[in-house]
Amino acid sequence: MNTSHKPRKRFGQNFLIDQQVIGQIVSAINPIPEDNLIEIGPGMAAITEHLVKRCPSMSLVELDRDLIEYLKQKLADFPNVTIINSDALKTDYTQFFTGDKMRLVGNLPYNISTPLLFHLLEARTMIRDMHFMLQREVVDRLCAGPGDKCYGRLSVMIQYHCRVNPLIPVPPSSFNPAPKVQSAVVRLTPYADTPYKADDPKLLRQLVSLCFQQRRKTLRNCLSSFAEYIDSTNPPVELTKRPEQLSVKEFVALSNSIHQNKVSLDE
Ligand code: SAH
Repeated sequence: MNTSHKPRKRFGQNFLIDQQVIGQIVSAINPIPEDNLIEIGPGMAAITEHLVKRCPSMSLVELDRDLIEYLKQKLADFPNVTIINSDALKTDYTQFFTGDKMRLVGNLPYNISTPLLFHLLEARTMIRDMHFMLQREVVDRLCAGPGDKCYGRLSVMIQYHCRVNPLIPVPPSSFNPAPKVQSAVVRLTPYADTPYKADDPKLLRQLVSLCFQQRRKTLRNCLSSFAEYIDSTNPPVELTKRPEQLSVKEFVALSNSIHQNKVSLDE
């Protein structure tokens, strides 16, 4: 069996070599045989080899074709593992949905983490939880609240849909090759019922994007294109605030108020 694989930069390959961290990740997930467990980017199976012992029917999504053969051989004792050679950003996750919600796990290439999180949000009703190793800065953004420097579109949209728990800080020395940045493992748990409900989720997405394109401006300025739908004598949120000061709840209130005014004015 070919046990050597030169890490490839273009596939964002930083392989975990720290057994303590790997153990902590597996404990945090705590898989059982019945789980519908899917790992994105298994690489050389550093995490997989432990997960598969607890959940022998897991699935793997790996982009690097050279690793597929390696994985097949490495996991030959586990005939119920499904290995799929595909791009996690283009993968249709509904194919894994068996009626049991999916549990996703991955030490992800950092350059695809934000688009992948948005891609996975689309499948959120079929997902039980997600455990991802990400750049620490991205985990900070996922957890950030109003007023935090890194609070932005990613924070609001992920927190709208998911409970976010930062779990394990991981230093560069835990990987080969060592990345230039700090990392962290985070757990995202999609809500069955979101704490705040947007009547028009597309509008919420649009408003959040628009606002954080100009995060230092006042809401009144950011939302000038929606002015006709905002009752400025009785605004849903203070329009002198800046987007970075608005909580998820306030973004939803703003979106719902604009939505209602739009519906009644456009009628
Ligand atoms: N989980 C392993 C490997 C981490 S490196 C470990 O912890 O050691 C990141 C892995 O993601 C690599 O195996 C890389 O080939 C894979 N990968 C990169 N881009 C991908 C994509 N778009 N879709 C699926 N896998 C990808």
